[in-house]
Amino acid sequence: MKLKIQETMDKVIRKNPGEPEFHQAVREVVESLTPFIEKNPKYKEAKIIERMVEPERAVIFRVPWLDDKGEIRINRGYRIQMNSAIGPYKGGIRFHPSVNLSILKFLAFEQVLKNSLTTLPMGGAKGGSDFDPKGKTDNEVMKFCQGFMSELFRHIGPDTDVPAGDIGVGGREIGYMFGQYKKLKNEFTGVLTGKGLEWGGSLIRPEATGYGCVYFVEEMMKTRGDSLKGKVCAVSGSGNVAQYTVEKLLELGAKVVTMSDSDGFIYDKGGIDHKELKCVLDLKNNRRGRIKELTREFKCEYFEKKRPWQVKCDAVFPSATQNEISGEDAKALVKSGCIAIGEGANMPTTPEGISVFQEARILYAPGKAANAGGVATSGLEMSQNSMRLSWTREEVDNRLHNIMIAIHENCVRYGKEGKYIDYVKGANIAGFTKVADAMIAQGLV
Ligand code: NDP
Repeated sequence: MKLKIQETMDKVIRKNPGEPEFHQAVREVVESLTPFIEKNPKYKEAKIIERMVEPERAVIFRVPWLDDKGEIRINRGYRIQMNSAIGPYKGGIRFHPSVNLSILKFLAFEQVLKNSLTTLPMGGAKGGSDFDPKGKTDNEVMKFCQGFMSELFRHIGPDTDVPAGDIGVGGREIGYMFGQYKKLKNEFTGVLTGKGLEWGGSLIRPEATGYGCVYFVEEMMKTRGDSLKGKVCAVSGSGNVAQYTVEKLLELGAKVVTMSDSDGFIYDKGGIDHKELKCVLDLKNNRRGRIKELTREFKCEYFEKKRPWQVKCDAVFPSATQNEISGEDAKALVKSGCIAIGEGANMPTTPEGISVFQEARILYAPGKAANAGGVATSGLEMSQNSMRLSWTREEVDNRLHNIMIAIHENCVRYGKEGKYIDYVKGANIAGFTKVADAMIAQGLV
């Protein structure tokens, strides 16, 4: 089996040189799928893995724009349309200086399996740019978004590809991109999700990834007769996913002791309360400040250039970026008594870290299952747009909750190994079979 896995990986590495994040994401999937595929030769004969690692289409484009000083700036834009076997392409847009082909291919590849897990009909894609919104004025962000959409609009559409937000892309950026799309196409359609409520957005979409992740971890806790109530939780990030993860954890009676940004983390021993969280939302969404500014108003400590994995906690919710939990971090967490991990971010744990969690037999929810609530609710936004109506907060939240329960059940179905549930294997097989069967049914396209 090891030889087969290595052979597949050698081919992927040869064809996609210099793309370490993409190799990492594919390896994790290939390792857990190979035994399953050996038992189900139809997938091998149809070369499904080989086909799935090749994007159906990848677009790379120039984005020139004018900054406030009248100087010309040039960024690079991307859209990776990975797989449309079960529905139109769907996946977020990331604006961050680290964005490159490897990162977007890893995210697009993960998105295919994640979207399949949601039970909704959505293919997988991802896009973005190396543009850094940090330190830019609203006007500059608008100019960039307009430039970005001036090319992207040709490749997307409500029945073709429906992008959403991700790191560096929130309500403001979606608004500017939607405005430009509408102007260029002369159409008001649900071409992007994460829209404002007044112009086609869905209630609960901003909350969905964080809420969904907490719902998923609560389901995992139930399998051990436990719950999140009273548990000490460490959260990383302070953006969209982190904010609503904290909100839902507080609602369930957990105690959240950390939040972070790319400069460092804050530790509030007494627990972050609603007032402090409200301040984080204002700081990050309106004032666009740094997390350390919280120490001015609240009794918390700040640790510069550190990640929050050394604090004593029962559960962790990495909600910032990829590869933020190393093998050493994972060992420290297990040693300090951590029993559950809910990945709000995509691929936040390194392969070494995943092995540590799995060997310790603790509850480990990989991002493609735990953070699927975001895209699932984007799917619900698409349905509301098509029907031209808006569901209530309760209705969307109930649907989201039920989807997270269904994803959990599916992971258990395919990942149960005696008393232990391997959620990585469960999520990969459950996500894979639906896409693979659709690909076989649709022939060689
Ligand atoms: P935001 O841009 O709203 O927030 C990102 C947060 O992570 C910020 O606090 C940011 O700090 C921090 N961060 C970003 N890059 C790094 C880095 N290299 N090192 C340390 N901290 C970093 O993004 P989201 O909350 O939307 O996304 C967070 C994660 O969740 C990503 O992995 C994303 O792919 C994933 N995700 C998001 C979904 C969504 O619906 N938004 C859906 C599913 C997954 P700073 O402000 O300093 O940059």
